Amino acid sequence: MAGMHSAGIGLSLEKRPPARTRDAMTAAVSAPPARAALPPTAPQRPVTPPVTPPVTPLNPAKFRDPARTAKGEERATVTLQRLETLWLNTGTLCNITCANCYIESSPRNDSLAYLRRDEAASYLAEIRALGLPTREIGLTGGEPFMNPDILGILEDGLEAGFHLLVLTNAMRPMQRHQAALLRLKARFGARLGLRVSMDHYSRAVHEAERGPRTWEPMLKGLRWLADNGFAPAVAGRGLSGEGLADLRAGYGRLFAALGMALAVDDPARLVLFPEMDARQDVPEVSTGCWDILGKRPEQMMCATSRMVVKRKGTERPALVACTLLPHDPQFELGTTLAGARPTVALNHPHCAKFCVLGGASCSA
Ligand code: SF4
Ligand code: SF4
Repeated sequence: MAGMHSAGIGLSLEKRPPARTRDAMTAAVSAPPARAALPPTAPQRPVTPPVTPPVTPLNPAKFRDPARTAKGEERATVTLQRLETLWLNTGTLCNITCANCYIESSPRNDSLAYLRRDEAASYLAEIRALGLPTREIGLTGGEPFMNPDILGILEDGLEAGFHLLVLTNAMRPMQRHQAALLRLKARFGARLGLRVSMDHYSRAVHEAERGPRTWEPMLKGLRWLADNGFAPAVAGRGLSGEGLADLRAGYGRLFAALGMALAVDDPARLVLFPEMDARQDVPEVSTGCWDILGKRPEQMMCATSRMVVKRKGTERPALVACTLLPHDPQFELGTTLAGARPTVALNHPHCAKFCVLGGASCSA
C-alpha cells in the first residue's frame, strides 16, 4: 500500500516534519474510545471535480545528461549527509490496482520482487556495523503485508531498536495479520507506526482512484488500528483539486463521524500529497537554482534517506536514491550502504517538480 504511500513519502503538500518527529507524533495519540461497530456514513459535501490542467509535454532535450542541463548549465546534485531513514521496498505486488499508482503496483506486477527477511536483516546489520545514525525504517510496496516475510522483517527491525513506519492500504492483507500485529504492539509499543492510504475523505473519489469496493475494507482496517491503540496516520491526496483547508476539513468531518481521534490539522497524522504528472514539462535544476530558490541540497529526501529494492531476476537487492524513483537505473547507487555512491544528479523531472521547485521557477 504504498502506491501513493510511497509516492508521497518525500513530498507532502506541506513541509514535512523530520521522520522521527513524525513517528513520535503518530505514536503519541492514544486510542479513541470504543464505538459502534458499523462504519458510519460520513457527512460528505459535494466534491468539486478535478480540474485537469492542459499538459505541456516534457521537452525531450531535458534530463538527458547527468552533468549538464539542456541549456548547458551544471546540473544540481545532492549528496547523502546522514542516513536518517532507510526505506525497504517489500515488492510491487498489491492486492488492488490504483489508477495512478506511481510504482504501477497491481496483483500481477512483480517487477520489484518480495524482499526476503535475511536481505532486510543484512541492511539493518550494516547500519549497526557502520554506526549510522539511522532511527527509522520505512516499509512500502506494493502492499507490504502481501510480502510473506513481512512479520519477520518487522520483528527484526523492532528488536534492533528502530522506529518502523509501514505504509499500508489497511485492507485484507493487513487485516489477516491482526493477531501478530497486536503481539508486536504489545512488545514494542509506539515504535511500530502504520500509515493508511485514504485517497480522499469521500468514498466516490477514493474508489474512483482505487476501484470499487475498496472504501469499506480500508475503513474497517483503519478503525481496527485506531480501536486497538496503533494511532495510525493517514495519507491523502489532492485528487479532487480542493485546497488544503478544504481537504483537512473534509477528513475532519469523516473522522468525527467515525468517532476517530485523528488530528487532521497535524501534518504528521494526516499527510496530504500532490499529484504527479510526469508528462508535464518542468524546468531543469542547475546548481544556481539553490540560491535563487533559497533552498539547500541538504533539504532533499535523498540527503537523508535511501530505499532498498529487489529487482525481479537480480541476485541481491540494491539501494536507490529515494522512494520516488525506484525504477530509473540512474538512481541506483550500489548494493551496500558502505559501497553505495553518495551523490545523486537531479536528472529526473520528479527531482525538479516535486523536490526542488514545488511549482516555483528558478529561471534567473
Ligand atoms: S496499487 Fe497498491 S501500492 Fe499502488 S497506490 Fe494502490 S494500494 Fe498503493
Ligand atoms: S526525486 Fe530526485 S531530488 Fe527528489 S529525493 Fe529523489 S533523487 Fe532526490
